[in-house]
Amino acid sequence: MTSQATPAPAGAPDPAATPVFRLFIAGEWVESISGETFQSRNPADDRDVIGRFQQGTAADVARAVRAAETAAALWRRTPAPKRGEILYRFGQLLAEHKERLARAMTREMGKVLPEARGDVQEGIDIAFLMAGEGRRMFGDTTPSELPDKWAMSIREPIGIAGIITPWNFPIAIPCWKMMPALVTGNTVVFKPASDTPHCATLLVELMAEAGFPPGTVNLVTGPGGEVGDAIVESPDVPVISFTGHTSTGRRIAERAARRLKRVSLELGGKNGIVVMADADLDLATDGILWSAFGTTGQRCTACSRVIVEQAAVEPMLERLERRAKSLRLGDGLEPSTDVGPLINGAAREKVEGYMAIGGREGELVTGGRKPANPGLEHGFFFEPTIFADVKPMDRIAQEEIFGPVLSIIPMPDYQAAVTALNQTRYGLSSSIYTHDADTAFRAMRDFETGIVYVNAGTIGAETHLPFGGTKATGNGHREAGHAALDTYTEWKSIYVDFSGRLQRAQIDNQSPG
Ligand code: NDP
Repeated sequence: MTSQATPAPAGAPDPAATPVFRLFIAGEWVESISGETFQSRNPADDRDVIGRFQQGTAADVARAVRAAETAAALWRRTPAPKRGEILYRFGQLLAEHKERLARAMTREMGKVLPEARGDVQEGIDIAFLMAGEGRRMFGDTTPSELPDKWAMSIREPIGIAGIITPWNFPIAIPCWKMMPALVTGNTVVFKPASDTPHCATLLVELMAEAGFPPGTVNLVTGPGGEVGDAIVESPDVPVISFTGHTSTGRRIAERAARRLKRVSLELGGKNGIVVMADADLDLATDGILWSAFGTTGQRCTACSRVIVEQAAVEPMLERLERRAKSLRLGDGLEPSTDVGPLINGAAREKVEGYMAIGGREGELVTGGRKPANPGLEHGFFFEPTIFADVKPMDRIAQEEIFGPVLSIIPMPDYQAAVTALNQTRYGLSSSIYTHDADTAFRAMRDFETGIVYVNAGTIGAETHLPFGGTKATGNGHREAGHAALDTYTEWKSIYVDFSGRLQRAQIDNQSPG
């Protein structure tokens, strides 16, 4: 049985031919108990219906959890290198299907095709990295404090991982979560964003093809308030990994805390770039444009604040305005497009709502409205927007807009720039452009973010380093790198005493008697 209940339509949207996709539970593609479906549409042209997806319910989550529980006993005992081989096959399949997945992603969530390919590539990279963990997954072997005794620690799976993901990296983020969960021997219940169920379905199809045993990976589409909530509340799902809005993450953490669950949160950002007057301003302009308007500003690591040393403000504004005006909006599948649409109407309304605020707080340099270009009227497009003369505590410099909106904040010197950069509730990514090595090293020390770039924008994380942020960006966990294993494993410490007599550790053996 396949994920689709009806064949895919060719050409223009025809409601009668809209494919219907299913949930994936216990290795079978099944319909939701609700009997209801919802649509996924193309944000570049919302007349284009991609498919209908199952409106999952708490009862479907219960089925998925039972399947994951049944699969867990065998999966956790499968040798980790063998688990890693399945991840490796999955990575190969992702690579083989990269173009198909990237095109489906652009159609479903709007990012331009080269970026969609990059999103799939991140999935491939983490699959291969974590496949290798099947043969590493190091613990410690240490000397014991007693003679004839041996001590070591090993990682063990926690059980079932509840994976709740957003729409902005619809292949990469699920892979960043599921690959470490699976290689360490957990089974998975996966709830994707309701804006990108098609990408999730294509991903899980490939996971099934790679050979993950039935029940190891289960997909339940449907609303966060129902499906996500049921995963968070399930007493049989001891670990939750969530990426999304800070308010949603906080709510999940509060509910999960009552059940003493482990929760890994990757939340919002308000990432800043500092441009010193000694920097290569053309290079800085390239990095800022890419970081602010790539993925239409909808990356958690997107740059939305540029803090410029006073002497560089005018030349930077001139460059940024000229370059932002030259960016071409359109369908991300068109090779000429630089910036795709926002994800949906609500996202665009939110961005539009900040235009009046920005106009009061700063000075509009470019953008600020929906484009009037013919052919874009059915998509959720918004012009790349820059406000100048913004102050660090202004709302547009503090609140996560999650769109193509950039604030330029002038500052007299490095120290004032650092203060402004750190004056935010978030702490994901930051960057500095400078030619002075001392200033660069000070920034590496002073910037209070989980990721710092020097002479590069705020985006471009690599899978083999820890990814995540400080303050309200998360709750201290990290994805990717070896750090990702910490979310999905318990440490077990093992002592072997081969002395043949009672030896007492942690007792003061020097004391008389
Ligand atoms: P949301 O928090 O609205 O949604 C994220 C996921 O949570 C979706 O799958 C959603 O389901 C689900 N969800 C919604 N409500 C609940 C609930 N009550 N219980 C459980 N799950 C729920 O965020 P967005 O999808 O709008 O993503 C954008 C936000 O994510 C931005 O603020 C961005 O900064 C942040 N983000 C952070 C990243 C990071 O690594 N730090 C990376 C990417 C995004 P449904 O879609 O059905 O509503």
